[in-house]
Amino acid sequence: MEYGVVMRRRFGGRVQKLAIDAGMTCPNRDGKVGYGGCTFCLNEAFSPSYCREQISLTKQLERAVEFHLARGRRADYYIAYLQSGTNTYMDADRLSSIYDELISHPAISGLIVGTRPDCISSEILDLLEELSHDKYVAVEYGVESVYDATLQRVNRGHDFRCAIDAVSQTKARGVDVGAHFIVGLPGEGRDDIVAGVAKINALGLDFVKFHQLQIYRATAMEREYTENPDDFIFANGFALEDYIALVCDILRHLDPAIAVERLLSQAPRHLLSSSSLGGIRSDDFRGRVVAAMRALGAVQGDMMDKGYCG
Ligand code: SF4
Repeated sequence: MEYGVVMRRRFGGRVQKLAIDAGMTCPNRDGKVGYGGCTFCLNEAFSPSYCREQISLTKQLERAVEFHLARGRRADYYIAYLQSGTNTYMDADRLSSIYDELISHPAISGLIVGTRPDCISSEILDLLEELSHDKYVAVEYGVESVYDATLQRVNRGHDFRCAIDAVSQTKARGVDVGAHFIVGLPGEGRDDIVAGVAKINALGLDFVKFHQLQIYRATAMEREYTENPDDFIFANGFALEDYIALVCDILRHLDPAIAVERLLSQAPRHLLSSSSLGGIRSDDFRGRVVAAMRALGAVQGDMMDKGYCG
């Protein structure tokens, strides 16, 4: 099920997310959890141009609306999306004022908070639950991998158990929960990736985002890729068709109750060290996946209970 369709049904019109930067830092950079951050991370890659923390939140919302209108993306409803950094990494009073400023804006119909699974507390969940009584609220956790060995290797600073707990505590508050996964992290082969979908299903998510690993310039991941390219599925001639086939396999094993928001990342090319499938637009990619699924006679979840045997 496509996330856009789910949101349109829920709201009764077209919904547009507005990425907002509240200037949050990250515990995996400032030493609370770790230093240096996740080995793949280049925060700049995730922020659209209108989204700069020096501008007030209200101004960012207004610029974001103009940004999308200028590109012909009209919407009936707008949702503020705290995307960059760890958007629960602040004391609850300051978070409350940030969330309030966004969600109380008359043009805004909801709030999505992107964060790490190890950065949630009952106090913050109280706050989100309360806000959810008036408007749509969701939390999007960066989980990235279901395998602890991978999470350790990319210096993520939390394990998969932490993600299981965060998702279940958030769901218990009646708040929607999504998660983000990177396809092709080092050490994970095709079989690992598809077999891992059963663990994603067990989380009880409302929505999910997948995207291919993109390797950014001047990151620890760039060095690792240079030294050990064979540890990456996207090395050695992995082509767009291979990724489409992999995505089809992921979708076929994915619970049909989970809305799929994204399958491809489109970072600015100048930030990329190696262009893992760069150049294709998301809507073009989506069309190719739909066509490939049709050609297989497949639908989301049709292999969910069949396990994965490669
Ligand atoms: S990916 Fe997220 S958690 Fe990791 S270093 Fe970047 S901002 Fe921090």
